[in-house]
Amino acid sequence: MPPSSPSSRETPAAALTDRFSRRHNYLRISVTDRCNLRCVYCMPAEGLVWRERAEILSFEEIVRLAKIFVAHGVDKIRLTGGEPTVRRHLHSLIGRLRALPGLRTLLMSTNGVLLATTAASYRAAGLDGLNISLDTLRPDRFAQMTLRDNHAAVLAGITAALAAGFPSVKINVVVMQGINDDELVAFTEFAAKHPLEVRFIEFMPFDRNDWSASRIVPYAEMRRRIEAAFTLTPLDAGPHAVAKEFAIAGGVGRLGFVTSMTENFCSTCNRLRLTADGKMKNCLFSTTETDLREPLRAGATDAELTAIMQQCVLGKWAGHPPMEQLVELNNRSMIQIGG
Ligand code: SF4
Repeated sequence: MPPSSPSSRETPAAALTDRFSRRHNYLRISVTDRCNLRCVYCMPAEGLVWRERAEILSFEEIVRLAKIFVAHGVDKIRLTGGEPTVRRHLHSLIGRLRALPGLRTLLMSTNGVLLATTAASYRAAGLDGLNISLDTLRPDRFAQMTLRDNHAAVLAGITAALAAGFPSVKINVVVMQGINDDELVAFTEFAAKHPLEVRFIEFMPFDRNDWSASRIVPYAEMRRRIEAAFTLTPLDAGPHAVAKEFAIAGGVGRLGFVTSMTENFCSTCNRLRLTADGKMKNCLFSTTETDLREPLRAGATDAELTAIMQQCVLGKWAGHPPMEQLVELNNRSMIQIGG
């Protein structure tokens, strides 16, 4: 059955439209709070106590909730973590989500450590694209930033992802002043040589990630430094785009900039999140979370769960507060949200 566009299902899609008429057709699902890396901007330095198995949604529960979201207009799902590939039998979840009628795009964000031997099988299971986190092209710096020695494995994972023929491969680079901002040109050269997008992300505040405004490299500054060496041409990234995208003159790949701190894109937001422990977040920075796990486990019907989802969406703010206020919010750590 051909995937039906959101517009052909007006009435159901309304369930995920907020007070600002933003329709939410993109769901990010965190499938675990665990990870095999310790990235400094994501996981608190002192580590985290992993959630008990029973607190984490089962695949059956994830598929049931995803089915309801898709029935109400979601047509794009991204799997995140922690690190999704550390969850066992992930291929079966991918296959079951892929089979959902109405789901147009299924993506995953990964740190790439386990990708070299699994990329082709994830593609075969039904994934349409990968975002691979890599914040440095230097193995020594990788070890400093992740407290692990897997740089070569991630590069091999990127090669495997390209070889597997994913329609979309993107490299996520969180840029931090004084840490890796001296690699903007090197990453642009990398993008110019490979059929992928390197995406520079402004550093964002989450629980205990030692964020400060002085550690951000603003979008305008990143562009100024890159355009001193390269010619960039703006590309149309679409109405709900998270990144500002550019072609690189003479290059095969392209660049993206995720500017949520200095030029936010909340007015066109179409994203919702489901955490690994079954909480719905209507915004990455919202600290008001809606529990779906307990009502689901208590036997709630699809209609009752839909009503809970709708209430969550109706409670969404117009946009995140200024960054200085964000750091005051008692939000989760990035690893517990999944970006
Ligand atoms: S900060 Fe919140 S409202 Fe703004 S784009 Fe991100 S998720 Fe959407």
